[in-house]
Amino acid sequence: MRYTKTIIFCLIVSIVNGSSLFIHHEPSPYRVFLFIVNIVIIFLIGRQLERYFFIKKELGTTKLSLIQYSYGLNSTMDGVGITNEHGEFEYVNESHMKMYGYSKKELLQSNWSICYSQSTIERLSSLAMPALDRDGYWRGEADGIRKDGTSFPQEIILSRIKNSKKVFCVVRDVTEQKIAEENIKHMALTNELTQLPNRRSLLLRLHQLMDEADRIFVLFLDLDRFKIANDTLGHEAGDRLLEQVANRLVSFRNEYTSVFHIGGDEFIMLIHNIDKHSVNQVASVIGQVIDKPFYVSGNEISITTSIGISCYPDDHVDIEELLKLADTAMYYAKLSGKNNHEFINNDIKLFLETKSFLELELKKAIRNQELVLHYQPKLALQRNKLVGVEALIRWKHPTLGTISPVEFIPIAEETGLIVDIGKWVIKEALQQISEWEKEGFPLQVSVNVSQRQLKREGELVQHIQACLQQYNVNPKDLELEITESVLENYEKIIPVLNEVKTLGIKVAIDDFGTGFSSLGSLKYLPINTLKIDQTFIKDLEGNKTDLAIVKSIIDVGRNLEIEIVAEGIETIEQLNILKDFKCLYGQGYYFGQPLPPEQFKEKFLT
Ligand code: C2E
Ligand code: MG
Ligand code: MG
Repeated sequence: MRYTKTIIFCLIVSIVNGSSLFIHHEPSPYRVFLFIVNIVIIFLIGRQLERYFFIKKELGTTKLSLIQYSYGLNSTMDGVGITNEHGEFEYVNESHMKMYGYSKKELLQSNWSICYSQSTIERLSSLAMPALDRDGYWRGEADGIRKDGTSFPQEIILSRIKNSKKVFCVVRDVTEQKIAEENIKHMALTNELTQLPNRRSLLLRLHQLMDEADRIFVLFLDLDRFKIANDTLGHEAGDRLLEQVANRLVSFRNEYTSVFHIGGDEFIMLIHNIDKHSVNQVASVIGQVIDKPFYVSGNEISITTSIGISCYPDDHVDIEELLKLADTAMYYAKLSGKNNHEFINNDIKLFLETKSFLELELKKAIRNQELVLHYQPKLALQRNKLVGVEALIRWKHPTLGTISPVEFIPIAEETGLIVDIGKWVIKEALQQISEWEKEGFPLQVSVNVSQRQLKREGELVQHIQACLQQYNVNPKDLELEITESVLENYEKIIPVLNEVKTLGIKVAIDDFGTGFSSLGSLKYLPINTLKIDQTFIKDLEGNKTDLAIVKSIIDVGRNLEIEIVAEGIETIEQLNILKDFKCLYGQGYYFGQPLPPEQFKEKFLT
């Protein structure tokens, strides 16, 4: 109850007062009247006193709160200000002063517009003021201007103080937040190593260009044999090389050309609104620019690039398809000798179509006896002596003619037909080798084995054992060649390789240097032979990097007691360099091309 204290006070006074008025005197109307007047007066006085103390207490609390609020406002990082109906500051806190670099006095004598540029004032006036009038509240972003003229991004919250024209404003400096946002955006869209826009940027840019440009050429660049340079020189040097490649590519950037680093040694260039002829020229120049030597940590490195090109909208209108086509064209550029560029063309498209046709035909090939083996001699280089042969498959198609394994082995691998084809190859090669042995020509035979065959290890090993027995061939005269790319998951194939080795059969890593293994990983593998890929031998005379790579492979091989075979020897010069490097074995057109068995026998065994 509001006046409890006053009522209790009146009751006490009236008891005291009443007792003095009525205890020793007869109650009379006068005394009763006097008593009531007394009580009313006492009640009124009590009530006033109570009100007085109440207000005093309230004032004390309010004062304390105001002091606390003031401390609070001053200790907040946000700038707080109150403006009157003319927009002039009536209050500013410490942060507000610090944020803008003005003194309290300067601000209290000024209008809020002192804190903004003319264009921001106009924007805020047209956006914030109507919102304040309508909703009593506005929130947004603007650039504030400090006393020294510098600007900073800020978030602003304005609210109209109730029943007045005054505005309460809170300003937050969001410079750091903006920097962090920019950093995150930058990281999300940039390749960390080269600082070039990444794949995500590429997709955004392609989307944007498809709306704006009539034609876009997608150039898919992949460095040739980067992996081996990376493994030989170390990852640090590999990174520096990629940075330098990126720098050279950046020099092509202009209004119509953008460059992206989509990962590893793969870059993409987008060129829009120019004709195919000009793109052709640009691609040639890119090839030349990358072909010039790089200098990394004191080493001269030669590296080349293969480029595949697709065009929007001529080749496709879907982004992923365009990238896939450019990638396929790049793959073709590599196949046709690397350091090359290739537009996606009808041949490549036709290949994609004929693939399904070949697949159907390949199924009939074994049954129809359309597969044959050719044999290429392998020589001991120092003695110039024939020591073995590599069996290489050919497909004699009745209407398409001879089809290269490069064309049909990938299809056979994809479809699983390679398992049966592989079995046929082993059987056929062992039969041939036993025939030659019977005729007095003992030779070792190397057979190429694909990843798919290795996965069905039990079947493979059983089949080999059965064939060795059937043709009475010594296991040491058989070598299985597996391509280096199989070693990507080398832990998985180690058991089957061990099993093969236990039988006494040899294992060779084919096309070494093009794939993923590093020289260091070789010591964990149960292998006997390394075949240096022919691309390294091809440029041996003129390319210092290739020389260094080949020499280090030979040296490591010698240290690990692994036989080294150089593939693709075509000239006496290449042979002499390899002999100088103490490379023991070699194959190549210089000694002889792969030949059918009868011709091979005629040329090399008689
Ligand atoms: P590979 O095992 O590395 O065989 C070497 C390839 O290089 C052969 O091509 C051979 O004809 C060619 N070659 C040899 N010496 C020279 C030379 O001096 N210069 C040039 N430019 N080339 C030379 P081929 O016969 O077309 O075989 C290509 C690839 O197909 C083989 O590469 C091998 O990976 C695969 N292959 C061949 N036969 C079989 C097979 O029976 N099974 C499996 N899975 N793959 C096979
Ligand atoms: Mg081979
Ligand atoms: Mg090879």
